[in-house]
This record gives sequence, C-alpha cells and structure tokens, in this order.
Amino acid sequence: RHLEVYVSRFPGQGMPGAVVVVNDTTEVRQAERMRQDFVANASHELKTPIAVIKSSVEALQDGAAEDPHTLASFLEQVARESDRMTYLVKDMLSLSRIESGSLGLEPRVVVLDREISDCMERHHPRADTKTLTLVEKPPPDAPANVAAWADPDALRQVMDNLVDNAIKYTPNGGRITVRWGATADTVSFEVEDTGVGIPEGDVNRVFERFYRVDRARGRAEGSTGLGLSIVKHLVQAMRGQVRVNSKLGKGTTFRVTLPRAGSA
Ligand code: ADP
Repeated sequence: RHLEVYVSRFPGQGMPGAVVVVNDTTEVRQAERMRQDFVANASHELKTPIAVIKSSVEALQDGAAEDPHTLASFLEQVARESDRMTYLVKDMLSLSRIESGSLGLEPRVVVLDREISDCMERHHPRADTKTLTLVEKPPPDAPANVAAWADPDALRQVMDNLVDNAIKYTPNGGRITVRWGATADTVSFEVEDTGVGIPEGDVNRVFERFYRVDRARGRAEGSTGLGLSIVKHLVQAMRGQVRVNSKLGKGTTFRVTLPRAGSA
C-alpha cells in the first residue's frame, strides 16, 4: 500500500508529542496509474493506423497514384485505417462516459426474448457471410414476456458486442447459440460459440481494457480490445454480472445476468 505520513510537532514551548497524519493514497495512485495506462494504450493503438495512412499517402504522392490498381489498393488501406480509428475513438468515448458515470442509464422493463430476436436479426447477414448457424434457444417451458430491468440501449450494446465477438472468433461453418432463462429475481442470457476459444491463462483478462489474446489476429478482424470492457461496465452499471467460460479450440460462452423486472 502507499501511505503518506505527515508529522508535525505541537507548536509552542515545552509541549510533548506531535500530530501524525497518515493518508492511504493507494486507491488514488491506482486510479492515476489506470488513467496513465489508458492514455499510453490509446496513443499506441492510434499510432498504427496513423502510420499506415501516412505511408500510403506518401507512396501515392511519390507516384503510386499513377497505376490505377496501386491507387485503388492504397486508397482502400486509407479507408480501412480511418474506419479503425473511428471505432477506436467511439469505443474510447463510450468507455470514458461509462466510467465517469455520465452515461445516464435509464433502466426500464425490457422484454428479453424480443431483444434477443432483434439482435439475432441484426447479425444474420454477417453470420451468413461466414456460413455460421445462428440459433436462439428459449428455455423448454419458456414463460411469456420475461423482462429484464435494464437500459434498452445498453442491453442492446451488450448483446451486440457478445454476438459480434462470437461471429468474429468462430471459423466458417461454426455455430452460435443464444440461450436465455430466468429465476424469480434475475434474467440471464448466454452466447455460446464453437470458435477458437481463449487460452486458460487469458480468460480472466479479456475484460481488461485493450486486452487481446492475439494482437495480430485481432487487428485483422478490426478489433479494439475495448468491447468486453464496455460490456462489463455496462452490465455492472445495470447491477448485473457477466461471466465467461472457454475451452481453447472448442469454443466460448459468455453469460450475462441482470435483475428481473418487477422482482424488487
Ligand atoms: P476485441 O475488439 O479485440 O474483440 P474485446 O474486448 O471484445 O475486444 O475482446 C477481448 C479479447 O477477448 C479479444 O481480442 C479476443 O482475443 C478475446 N475474445 C472475445 N470474445 C471471444 C470469443 N467469443 N471467442 C474467443 N475469443 C474471444
């Protein structure tokens, strides 16, 4: 721990003793360190796309623009890296809004299976391009209109992020299953994939900011390493929990639990 100790003798003559003030600054220092790490990581992440854009533009200025094929491929690179910076900045802004508590979540009654169906619909086109099977599995005796007490936009962002990752980290031909269920006071859903899985040593770190198991692969897939940290913060802000279970080479399951509407 980091302690700051101030000692001051009693003023005046002949008074014995002193005042000792001990400040525990561990948490302040940790927060400061996290901020510094965040800035360092963010700058590092932005440097790569900027470097790629700059070198593409320089090559074009040096004559690469004369050949239509080279021109097209450099321009494509510039467009791709600009998109990447856009995601990064968007994710960084989301995270900083969530962390500063200025997101203003407004929990309300959200019918779970409807949100899940909508989310599946949004992702079908992308799943199709990888020939992935995307299935929704309600519980066997699915009760009607099970609802979470959640902010609808935040819940959508959480679901989208998890299904998006499942698609990203599952090779062609795989399967993604979304299950849901409820207890007396909670609702939960899980996103299971038959993808690449996460090594045991990394599984507890995937919610950390900028953490990626495989940097090179992540970059190619347009990843920022911020998605899961946003998921975790949003779920916690809605008084829920998110857990992960994974087996390398077999697949991964993320499970989110949220308060059930009307159970309080
Ligand atoms: P990213 O933008 O890199 O996907 P995330 O915060 O969403 O960032 O995820 C962090 C890391 O966790 C990813 O880079 C990936 O290595 C791993 N990961 C996340 N979801 C999955 C999944 N469904 N299967 C395998 N690995 C995953």
